[in-house]
Amino acid sequence: MSFSETAVIRSRRVVLPDGERPADVLIRDGRIERIAEHGSLPTGDRPDGAVALTDLGDTALLPGLVDTHVHVNEPGRTEWEGFATATRAAAAGGVTTIIDMPLNSIPPTTTVDGLDAKRKTAEGQAWVDLGFWGGAVPGNVPDLEPLHRAGVFGFKSFLAPSGVDEFPHVEQADLEAALTEQARIGALAIIHAEDPAVLAAAPQQPGVHYRDFLASRPADAETAAVARLLDTARRTGARVHILHVSSAAVLPLLRQAREDGVRVTAETCPHYLTLAAEEVPDGDTAFKCCPPIRDESNRDALWAALANGEFVAIVSDHSPSTPDLKLLPEYGGSGDFAQAWGGIASLQLGLPAVWTEARRRGHSLGDVVRWMAAGPASLVGLTGTKGAIAVGHDADLVAFDPDGAFAVQAARLHHRNPVTPYAGRTLTGAVRTTWLRGRPVDTAAAPFGRQLTHTP
Ligand SMILES: [Zn+2]
Repeated sequence: MSFSETAVIRSRRVVLPDGERPADVLIRDGRIERIAEHGSLPTGDRPDGAVALTDLGDTALLPGLVDTHVHVNEPGRTEWEGFATATRAAAAGGVTTIIDMPLNSIPPTTTVDGLDAKRKTAEGQAWVDLGFWGGAVPGNVPDLEPLHRAGVFGFKSFLAPSGVDEFPHVEQADLEAALTEQARIGALAIIHAEDPAVLAAAPQQPGVHYRDFLASRPADAETAAVARLLDTARRTGARVHILHVSSAAVLPLLRQAREDGVRVTAETCPHYLTLAAEEVPDGDTAFKCCPPIRDESNRDALWAALANGEFVAIVSDHSPSTPDLKLLPEYGGSGDFAQAWGGIASLQLGLPAVWTEARRRGHSLGDVVRWMAAGPASLVGLTGTKGAIAVGHDADLVAFDPDGAFAVQAARLHHRNPVTPYAGRTLTGAVRTTWLRGRPVDTAAAPFGRQLTHTP
């Protein structure tokens, strides 16, 4: 069957910005042209119409998710993940737009040359639409404006060591300089907020026990870093976004800062919302990430904050490595949490993981779409084209069976490496079809993802 320029997708559960209802969605030239009453549009099954119809029945139709926190790692560490594998995983998981993080690739995206290397490498191997973050590191203030003009969506900085030598963290003076420049050019600063002094003072006990690892990355490291960042944002006027909030203890600081007029948003991740420290098996370093997965009561507090609108987005922070660097016992590794690579692979599983837990807690598909599509789209200025089923938007769509249960088999995911803490879990919610700009994505056929640029 060839791709039709005009098509109707019909579902009894279309998740629109104002709620879920039966509807017909008319697509023309890759955009949503019209949203009409269910069954009302003249389609090829009727004598008065010739438009191809896909009738999903009770399967839900969602906007494609927007994942603004993905480490693709290519070029340079393609054996960890790459554009082809990451974007196939994204498409299979209902994610139609990803924004790639500026580190773990070599070179990092801290110069226009680094950005060009990314773009060239990604050419022809993106199954979903793809944009890039830049990085703000010590000494690259002169690179920020050229990168901003070249179309990066903002700049990532680390307040503590990043885990890779070529992407150093910023000390306070570097942070001041970076945020001052970003306020001047109108860029969004996205920050990994853990405080290096608090981390250095925490007990360091290597080994297979998750409790020891958790104690080495205390919640105080997050609160101290966020407090310092907010103070710097207040003084420089920069717009800041806190990446991967793991500790609910930072939330009161964010509320107070917003009341004071600081422009600050925050995100959290599927693993902080669906996993808990109490259940991490000894030596299972698939669960290691920084900041760490904390206890169940903290997880409940994160859900309460989500329900209150305190997080703009849930994004994956997909950050895989090869299994040997994870030191996984089944690959002959020591299972030492202190030494293992810190990063969780979940790009293909974020939607079912979050939906499984959201539903248990009484949330709707509309809530999940707000957190995983509309919210992240607004964070990066893509509202208007991405993140909602709305007239004029790209027809990035997902057929999602909210009751479809499946057991996660790591080796069957499109991720390059078969490691994920969700392995063996049964999740509810299955992606049946993903459309990118009106065309079904076939991960066995040629890719047609586009590179996106942020317009300053
Ligand atoms: Zn990350």
